[in-house]
Amino acid sequence: MNSDILNTSIEFLKGVGPNRAKLLNGELKISTFKDLLFQFPFRYIDKTSYHKISEIQSINSEIQIIGKISDLKEVGIGKKKRLVAKFIDDTGSIDLVWFKTNRWLIDSIKLNTEYIAYGKLNSYNGKHSIAHPELELYNNENVKKRTKLTAVYPSTELLNRRGITNKVILNLIEELLITLNNKIDENLPTYLKQKFNLLARREALIIIHKPRNLDELKKAIYRLKFEEIFFLQIRLIKKNINRKEKIKGYKFNVIGKEFDKFFKDHLSFELTNAQKRVLKEIRRDLGSGAQMNRLLQGDVGSGKTIVAFMSALIAIGNGFQACIMTPTEILSHQHYNKFKDICKLLNINVKTLTGSSKARYKKEVKESLIKGEIDLLIGTHALIYDGVDFKNLGIAIIDEQHKFGVAQRSKLWHKNKLPPHVLIMTATPIPRTLAMSAYGDLDMSVINELPPGRKDIKTIHQSNRDRLKLIHFLKDEIKKGRQIYVVYPLIKESEKLDFKDLLDGYESFSRDFPMPKYQLSIVHGKMKNEDKDYEMQRFIENKTQILVSTTVIEVGVDIPNATVMVIESAERFGLSQLHQLRGRVGRGAHKSYCFLITGNKQTKESKIRMETMVSTNDGFIIAEKDLELRGPGNIMGTQQSGEMPLRITNLIGDSKLIQKIRLLAEKILEKDPKLTNPNNSLILSYLKQIIDKKNIWEYIS
Ligand code: ADP
Ligand code: MG
Repeated sequence: MNSDILNTSIEFLKGVGPNRAKLLNGELKISTFKDLLFQFPFRYIDKTSYHKISEIQSINSEIQIIGKISDLKEVGIGKKKRLVAKFIDDTGSIDLVWFKTNRWLIDSIKLNTEYIAYGKLNSYNGKHSIAHPELELYNNENVKKRTKLTAVYPSTELLNRRGITNKVILNLIEELLITLNNKIDENLPTYLKQKFNLLARREALIIIHKPRNLDELKKAIYRLKFEEIFFLQIRLIKKNINRKEKIKGYKFNVIGKEFDKFFKDHLSFELTNAQKRVLKEIRRDLGSGAQMNRLLQGDVGSGKTIVAFMSALIAIGNGFQACIMTPTEILSHQHYNKFKDICKLLNINVKTLTGSSKARYKKEVKESLIKGEIDLLIGTHALIYDGVDFKNLGIAIIDEQHKFGVAQRSKLWHKNKLPPHVLIMTATPIPRTLAMSAYGDLDMSVINELPPGRKDIKTIHQSNRDRLKLIHFLKDEIKKGRQIYVVYPLIKESEKLDFKDLLDGYESFSRDFPMPKYQLSIVHGKMKNEDKDYEMQRFIENKTQILVSTTVIEVGVDIPNATVMVIESAERFGLSQLHQLRGRVGRGAHKSYCFLITGNKQTKESKIRMETMVSTNDGFIIAEKDLELRGPGNIMGTQQSGEMPLRITNLIGDSKLIQKIRLLAEKILEKDPKLTNPNNSLILSYLKQIIDKKNIWEYIS
């Protein structure tokens, strides 16, 4: 069967053998025929045009020259020993260099014979050279074989040094295609191929490696992207469907008197339409009998907390416990302080639990939790560790986080009970296509509307030197009764230096804003929790006007009277972090401001980040830009999630295609959820092939 051949170890391909197999595996993660077949070129080069040595200019580009080797010698000693060839054409000369030399190589090179040399141009001490070039005799046969679209494969330094050049990979691919002959099975049904005008799978896989022209290459790329996205989406949607079928959840039949009472008597504002819609979606899930796994997205300040709280009320109203988990202790305390009075009125027992809770208190909480005396527990990750046991946890709400993984989720789940419903709330929006791909197995709710009356935050980017004007501005705001955050970066590796920056900054602000007229607070991660709380509380109560801090206040903190966010060394923050920080202001009715202070030297990327921040307040747009700048792997650790083995699809460039295919996959599974319709048999059999044997139950019933 086809899949058997494709699963053959790469070692057994002609021309590979154990040593090369080890290298290919270690460097490129190629361990089977299939891995090599799906090792797609990342670009194509024209190997039918040649450079003259005198015309060569730009370094780091690939060049191809026809010439002769006039001289060959070994230079240097020991580790620095290398082989240098003088390569000449009728316009000049260039060095070809091999850093690892051997007898065989030296013997095989012929002097004064015409070669084609190909490789990446380097420049050293003003002299051009090519390291580890591909050398091929210049003759009719070799020239004829060269194409305008020669595939270039990912490579590494080590592979090159060990002689596994691009040409070698090309040869291996050639060998592989011969070995496979016609044995590449189709995995898309004819009706899809026709409808979307797709090449056959076999054809596409050959063309991607050996295109004859641009037109067919485009078609091959399209076909392979289509298949990649299609099967990813089918898997994700199917996983979701199967979970709903299989994983039973607690059924909350009523909305409960707590929710009702809160809604009627204690809600101090009208919910936005988006909040209402999302609550309805959650309510429907909670009543469905299946376990809820929902991701709630909303921009900073869109009002996710109240949705979380009201969802917890539904669980409590049905006789269950609820927990809200936050990324920081500060945020746990903020939620607790916000809800404790209301909870009292509703006769709900609420407690907090964080890493730094006192041992005796922790013990008490744990005891009453297992007895079911606590209705709502708010805390950090401490909630899922060391023997924290609920009597009957009905819903777990994860605030301001999306990295909360499956493994962690399952910690909340006791073998002998049903799993709690899970609501994950993101800190900032996730780009649509990324959400679809990385979280495509979760249900999604979006709050796409801010509470009424919010004004855009005015964002100003300025250099370190214009401080005087800034100080004046801040004083004016304080005069109006407003408060100010000043944030310094604290990034692990350079912690000591950063810490000094923070203290220096605090001192300098203390000089510009002297006591007793002004009061300042400082909060950072190294402080004791009590001290942190004390300082935060003073700021919350408007006893201090300026809060100087590290990013400990990055997410979630909600103090509507604060109207200015000053971000120091802003160039060191990523876009979504900047947006998160800015989101600390603009939470009330007052006009708010964000100052991005950067040093004089900025990278191009940092400039783009600042420009983006200045030009928009929209978290969804910023998320897209962030994805574009950093790539999916760096955002939210999605690389580790293993759900996105995307080899050819680009989450940004292919977003339209992803959306189209998502809809298509949804439609197919809606009509044929188990894929048992004969028309879909190719899809089903391919799914069975690609899904890990131990996970197969997740997909196929
Ligand atoms: P985030 O989505 O960033 O977590 P929060 O839940 O902290 O936002 O809400 C931001 C602020 O908006 C809070 O002070 C909250 O009380 C307020 N808020 C939430 N919903 C509404 C609403 N519908 N009308 C007015 N204010 C609201
Ligand atoms: Mg929040």
